[in-house]
Amino acid sequence: MSLSRAEIERYQRQLLVDSWNQERLRSARVLVVGVGGLGEISATYLAAAGVGHLRICDSDKVELSNLNRQILFTTEDIGKPKSALVGKRLAAQNPEIEIESVSDRLTETNASELASGCDLMIDGLDSHSDRLKLNHASFDLKVPFIYGAVNEWLGQLSFFNPPRTACLACVMPEELQAPTPTPVFGALPGVIGSLQATLAVRYLMTGEDPVSNALLIFRADTMAFETVTFERRRGCEVCGKTVTGPVLASPHS
Ligand SMILES: [Zn+2]
Repeated sequence: MSLSRAEIERYQRQLLVDSWNQERLRSARVLVVGVGGLGEISATYLAAAGVGHLRICDSDKVELSNLNRQILFTTEDIGKPKSALVGKRLAAQNPEIEIESVSDRLTETNASELASGCDLMIDGLDSHSDRLKLNHASFDLKVPFIYGAVNEWLGQLSFFNPPRTACLACVMPEELQAPTPTPVFGALPGVIGSLQATLAVRYLMTGEDPVSNALLIFRADTMAFETVTFERRRGCEVCGKTVTGPVLASPHS
């Protein structure tokens, strides 16, 4: 179906971008899991860009200590559920798209239900064990996901689409020993969440995934970007049984 007059006006500036395909974005279904500092940024940009169906999932309520980085929320929102608030804000921002808000914690059982029917998932989670659940669902349903994480001055991003690419468990199979709560200031998840949205838009329109089998690292203390590459790991408990090509003998540390 062609674009309406309202859509043509709303998306006027991005329709000028080389290789842009608004119809493809409109037909896309994306799950954003976690709408804290990372996920609320990527969800906002995906809604603004006109991704046709967004499913947003978060079980948390807004707390005062979230407000240094979760810029979609106000002091008046304290105590209210994040997924419903984000759903309402994004619907007001772009009424052309469908938004589904789910106020659930990610579990091994519901991860596949949430991923079902989606073209892509965005990881806005703050726990590695939850990311590994998302990774399982990604492998089981063949739905790729864009990983993002922040800690102090370090931000990371990758694209996982197992079994075509390595999965998260190939490179980070164990629960990470990170301090709790994670040290974080607002602008860094803003950068990584924006990169996740940028990659999502590009992937949904073109199928290109330039950071699969690679970890993009942003060091905010030195303003340096670097890329570390990896491959699928034989013996990976998630995707290892399907490995046929050249693989690593052991996980990267
Ligand atoms: Zn794997």
